[in-house]
Amino acid sequence: MVLTAHRGICVYCGRSRATTLDHERPVAERGADIWWNFVPACDGCNRWKNGRTARNWVRDMDLHHRYPKVGFTSRAMRPEVYVGIPRRVERVQGEIADIDRRDWFRHHYGRETHRVKAGMFEALERCKTELKGYPYHPWTAPKVREADADTCVRRVCCGWKDRQAWFSAPTMILAEEDRTAFLRAAYRAKLYPGDLLGELVRKHLADLNDSIAE
Ligand SMILES: [Zn+2]
Ligand SMILES: [Zn+2]
Repeated sequence: MVLTAHRGICVYCGRSRATTLDHERPVAERGADIWWNFVPACDGCNRWKNGRTARNWVRDMDLHHRYPKVGFTSRAMRPEVYVGIPRRVERVQGEIADIDRRDWFRHHYGRETHRVKAGMFEALERCKTELKGYPYHPWTAPKVREADADTCVRRVCCGWKDRQAWFSAPTMILAEEDRTAFLRAAYRAKLYPGDLLGELVRKHLADLNDSIAE
């Protein structure tokens, strides 16, 4: 859940692949050893930041940038990169704390346990592949119905398995340009293509009923 946040990229340098969970507030500074204190980080940044909060690390890097000879830190990050760290951390923490996102991960990966790191990376790759298969972040899709805590009923995700959802629309034969125009219209209306189709069907049925009543 944490490692796929920020598009799987280290929240600090914003470049390398995130392969470690960093305690944003270090355990040594009474930081909690729990998910909401984790951010995705690359190995290099994680080691370098070491026992500091992001804010203190940025302060040290800033001092180092201004007084390079004093030795506030051992390496240098470009100022335009480190000034963005607090903002990036805040945004990623918001992403990780998103209840819908968390629920999705719990539903899909919550039962997995990894005794060794390799197992976790294997699950991570599987998760990334799965996420690439969705046209949208699946946790942002509307729910088919109110779900109990254990089931995912997101429309573009597991919702199609739900008895109350009917997705098997008959095959549509559309010319390429009509198809593109339809998808664009759905995108502009901020609707899932299936929802737009459902709306059109309902509208059509309502019109039919009206004409019968007349
Ligand atoms: Zn990094
Ligand atoms: Zn699902």
